[in-house]
Amino acid sequence: MAEEPKETKPGFQNPVAGFGVTFKAMFKKRLTEQYPEQQKTTAPRFHGRHQLNRHPDGLEKCVGCELCAWACPADAIYVEGADNTDEERYSPGERYGRVYQINYARCILCGLCIEACPTRALTMTNEFELADSSRANLIYTKEQLLAGLDEDMVDTPHAIYPGMDEQDYYRGLVTEAAPGTERQVAVSKGEQPGEQEVKA
Ligand code: SF4
Ligand code: SF4
Repeated sequence: MAEEPKETKPGFQNPVAGFGVTFKAMFKKRLTEQYPEQQKTTAPRFHGRHQLNRHPDGLEKCVGCELCAWACPADAIYVEGADNTDEERYSPGERYGRVYQINYARCILCGLCIEACPTRALTMTNEFELADSSRANLIYTKEQLLAGLDEDMVDTPHAIYPGMDEQDYYRGLVTEAAPGTERQVAVSKGEQPGEQEVKA
């Protein structure tokens, strides 16, 4: 049996009810944000762009283990590790991340990669302005992700702090670059001798 049509309001009441909704909204708090002119501060633990961190002397924390890449559900991370040498050292231990890329066309900013990282090399910043119209530009390289240098740091590659080993770095015994630390020549990146910096 066909259903009885529901009883509706008389025609003239519908527009009045509609205006009522508008009228009520006029007194509610406005949610419009004047972005990008006015930037809103994110929550402190907001998951934004990643950062590859350094030890206090400037050596890199990444050991090229690829655990972050394996943990990523979106297959957004690409890592290639390589061996350090005494002439070209990027991290205190045996290995470092030679190639490191994050594809922000894939990344869903879930944070599983930073949970997987055993050295706290990988963390996430509060930076959220990642949009771009080019796919190529959305693939961030190690150079873009690597943290900047503080005053007490020397850029990689450079020698390990004299008398310290890898474990000492994680015990917090290294707090700055040793005086006289020289930036080594990054031969693997095609650098030529003569580009070293010296820490006073
Ligand atoms: S935040 Fe999530 S999706 Fe993005 S790279 Fe890390 S694990 Fe992958
Ligand atoms: S960022 Fe962390 S998990 Fe990823 S390769 Fe480097 S050390 Fe390993």
